[in-house]
Formats: sequence, structure tokens, C-alpha cells
Amino acid sequence: MDNEPGKPPTPRARLSPDLKLGRLTSIGTKLTLVISLVIAVGFGSIVYFYTRQQEKNILLQNERAIQQVLDSVSQGLQTIMITASADVARLYADKLKDVKDIDEIRIVRPDGLEAFRDNETIRQINEYRNEAEFPLRPTTSVSRTFAADDGNLARAIRTQQVVYYYDTQHDDQHLTFLLPIKNIKRCKRCHGREQEVLGVLEVRSSLDSAREEVRQTWVQSSLVLAISLAAVLLVAAAVLRRYIVRPIEVVSLAMSRVAAGDLEQRIPVMGRDELSLLARSFNKLTEELRLRHAGFNAEHNKLETILMSADEGIVVTDGSGKIVLVNPAAETLLDKSAARIADQGFMYLFDDPKRMEAALENSGASGGSDVFLHNKRYLAVYASSLRGADGHLLGHALLIRNMTEEKRLEQKLRELSNTDVLTGLANRRALDDMLKQEFGLALDQDRDLAVLMFDIDHFKQFNDCHGHDQGDRVLKAFAVATRARVREDLDTVCRYGGEEFTVIARETSQEGAMILAERIRADIEAMMVDGLRVTTSIGVAGLCETGAATPGELIERADAALYEAKRGGRNRVAAAADGPAT
Ligand code: GH3
Ligand code: MG
Ligand code: MG
Repeated sequence: MDNEPGKPPTPRARLSPDLKLGRLTSIGTKLTLVISLVIAVGFGSIVYFYTRQQEKNILLQNERAIQQVLDSVSQGLQTIMITASADVARLYADKLKDVKDIDEIRIVRPDGLEAFRDNETIRQINEYRNEAEFPLRPTTSVSRTFAADDGNLARAIRTQQVVYYYDTQHDDQHLTFLLPIKNIKRCKRCHGREQEVLGVLEVRSSLDSAREEVRQTWVQSSLVLAISLAAVLLVAAAVLRRYIVRPIEVVSLAMSRVAAGDLEQRIPVMGRDELSLLARSFNKLTEELRLRHAGFNAEHNKLETILMSADEGIVVTDGSGKIVLVNPAAETLLDKSAARIADQGFMYLFDDPKRMEAALENSGASGGSDVFLHNKRYLAVYASSLRGADGHLLGHALLIRNMTEEKRLEQKLRELSNTDVLTGLANRRALDDMLKQEFGLALDQDRDLAVLMFDIDHFKQFNDCHGHDQGDRVLKAFAVATRARVREDLDTVCRYGGEEFTVIARETSQEGAMILAERIRADIEAMMVDGLRVTTSIGVAGLCETGAATPGELIERADAALYEAKRGGRNRVAAAADGPAT
């Protein structure tokens, strides 16, 4: 981070290229362009309407000026004509053409022909007065000014009002006035009373001066427009830059720094406008983010500490199966480094992919764990799939627990629960389980199986004479002696209860068992414990010989034989009678 915490980002040189005002895509350029366009259209419209108005005014003034000229010319002409000096009137009109902007002044008769050029009017007057008062011209010329049916001419004569119109058909534009020459009282002496209008005075004025004036107005207005526009644009750009673009740049820069992880970014809040509000909200948001991030980090650290210090091995993958977390316990339990675990992949955590498949299947199906031996350790594996809210797979998590100690304790417990505390022999419960199992196997595989039941003779009496502790020592010695005599791999000695013992003799017939029983009996008889002796009676029952249907029945048959041995005088061996018990 190149900013100190809490300090606003300042130097412009640090702005990223896409934040520069000069770029066409920058908001400042866009705003300036839009504002320029709006101002240009607004100013242009004002200037256009102003200049159009000016143009109208100039033309109107031009019209008025010409009308004034027209009035005085009309007065002059009438005065001249009343003195019957028609040629003078024509000369006067010709002279007026030299007046600036007057192109043509002609006196036109109602038939559209120019007056005072031929003898027509003189002839009419002489005819009307019935005397040749006015001499005819020696030379005549006449030119047609208007068509006989010209609308403007007809209107001026009909309305007896001044008619004017702009001639726009030609390149050099003209304004033409048609002033009706009324047949006033003094004119009627010569022209008679029939016509109310004797003709029109046509004044054709060039619009060159007016046009020039209009053009200059346009030029000046455009100049003013351009200068004003440039000034407004400069001011608008400066204001935009100062109050909008720069603050936005500052916010954008701060945002990009926050996005890069610097949550200490703050923007100076100046004023109360929308951008200040934005800056205030940004600062609030960043502070909130910072707090949450700190909280998240604290939680993350806690979780990491738990994960890393956990006794359970934890391995996590992402959605693609790539290993993303291995804690130290996992390294220990799997006996390989995190790098090697990650390198080998999820399915090779236990070296054999089939083992992993089974672990996933077992823990996945039952929600429990799969326990197996791996590198001399019992490991319980709990696997679970991590899924997002929409159900898509985020990854797998595997928890590996070292169960070796539990297994050892469990084994010990099991052994204890199956072992007689005094003699260290299998107890009655173990005997029942073992006999049941061996009974089934013997039946299935059609093998011999025999049971020997022992009961120490007159042991009650022995206890009474020598004490219970001495009796216990005898019992221990009895166990050792019996164990020493049986085959280690095929026979199992159990304490049936009290001073009664049992031997399960696998793959042994009743006859064979009788031999074994006799040997044990002799051993016990010969055995000295603290200078004392005991004897034992033994009942023997073979599975095939008795045809016992259940383990319980086989025991009963051996017990019955034992009873016979007792009855026979003790310190002896008796076999169960062949065939089912009667
Ligand atoms: P029998 O020849 O008919 O078997 O006579 P007995 O006295 O042995 O008769 P019984 O089998 O009914 O007596 C069992 C005696 O064994 C009773 C009890 O004093 C003794 N006993 C049973 N369990 C223990 C033990 O754990 N320690 C000691 N010291 N004596 C035991
Ligand atoms: Mg007994
Ligand atoms: Mg006894």
C-alpha cells in the first residue's frame, strides 16, 4: 500500500490510466461533451433567433427607408406631372436611379407598359380634351415592365394601396414597391374621370446593402457565439473537473485500493453534496469492511489454530479434488509430508485408491467412519462432501482419527471381559462364545470336538482346612498345570466357575479326550501346592460320540460324566455314554 492508513489518496500521478480526464471514455470528457453540445445548441438557437430578428429588422428598416423615398418621389413626380411636364417627370425618374440602392424607378401604365416613352398617353389626353394641346414626341420607345395580367400590378391598381414584394427569383435580390398613382381631381382635367388609378410608380431597390448588413450581423453574432461558447466550455470543464471528476477519481482510486486489500483507505468529506455523501458512505462501508475483515481474520486464525493443533488429521480438497489443506496431524498419521500428500492426490492418501474408495463409501453411506489398519495404526476415517447452498460440490473433507490406543484398550477390555481374573484363563463367557463357534465349525467341517469338565474334589473342605487364600493359590496352580498339559494350538482351558474348569479340545474324539483327561488328572494328583495336594474328577464328552445337538447339550453331557466320576469315588475320569442322553 502506498498510502498511510486514514490518509486520502492525493497525487494525481498515481491515478490509473483509465481514470485520466483526457480519455474519451472518462466521465469528465463525456460530461464536457454533453454540456458543450447542450450549450452550443442553446447558444446557437439564441444567436440564430436573434440574428433572424435582426435580419427582419434590417429588412423592415430598409422597407421603411425606401417607402419614405417612395413617398417623396411620388410627391415630386405628381407635382411635375401636374405641370404637364411628362418628359421632365421621366428625366426626374431616370435621375433617381443614381440614388444609392435604387436600381429602377419607372412610371407604369395599368397595361404594364412604361409611361412617358411613347405617345399613347398624349394621344389619349388630346383625344379626351379634343384638342392637340400636347405635342407628340418625335421619337418613341416603349418597354414592357409588367405582363398585362401581372398580379402585383393588378393588386396595386385594384386596392389603390402600395404593394411591395421581394424578387427572389434572381441572384441579385430586389425589393420592388408599386405605388398607385391616383387620378386626383387635378389630374382629371387631362385624364378624364374613368380611371381611378392612372398607373403605378415602380421603385426597384437592391437589397445588397441590407444583405451586407445582415451578413455582418451573422458574422458578429457567430463570433460572439464562438467566444462565449469557448469561455463557457472552459468554465464548465474547470467546474466539472473540480467538483465532479476529481472527487469521482478520488473515490475510484480509493475503491481500487480497497479492492486490492487496503481497508485503511478513507476519503476526505468536504461539503454536503451527493459526492460528499458518497464519500461518507464509502468511509462507513470501508470501516465496516475493516471491522468484519478483522473479525473474520480472528475467526480464521482461531479456526486455523484448531485445525493445525487438532489431534485428528484433516485433509480438505476443492471442488476439482485438488488438496487445499493438510494439517500436521494428517502428516503424522499418514506418515508423509503435506507436499507429498498434495502431490499424490486425494485418492492416494492411504496409498491404495481402493482403500480410499472404501473409506468414502463407508463413511458416506452410514455417516459414520471406516476403521482400518494403516502403517501399524488403526485409523478411523470420516469423509464428507462439502456442498454450496445450490448443491454444487465445493470439495471433500476427510477427518482421520488415530484409533490405535482405543483399539488397544478395547482389545484389553475384551480380553479382560473374557478372562478370569484369578487364573488368567478364559472365563465362562469366553467359553460359551468359543464353544459355540467351535461347535458350528466342527459340524460344518465334520470334525471331532470334545469337552472336558473338571471339579476339584472336596474343595470346600480344603478351604475350610487351609483357608480361602490357600484355595486360590491351588486354583492358580491347577490352571497352570492344566495349561501345561494341553496342546497350545488346539485346546483351550477355561474356568467354568468356582473350582470347576473346562477344556475345549478341538479335532479330538472322546477317546482322545479321555487320554488327555487322564493325563491332567495324574498331573493334578502329583501337583504340590505349598506342600498340599488336591485331586480332581473329570467328565469327558465327545461331539460325535454323544451326538449333542447344541453346545449346551455337549456341556451337559460332560457334566453328567463328571457326576459319574464323582459318584465313582472321585479322582477319576468318566466318559459320557455314547448316543443321546436318556
Ligand atoms: P465335591 O468333591 O463333591 O466337589 O466336594 P466339594 O467340596 O468340592 O463340593 P463343591 O464342588 O460343591 O464345593 C465347591 C467349593 O469350592 C465351595 C467353595 O468353598 C469353593 N470355591 C469355589 N470357588 C472358589 C474360589 O474362587 N476360591 C476358593 N478358595 N474356593 C472356592
Ligand atoms: Mg464344585
Ligand atoms: Mg468340588
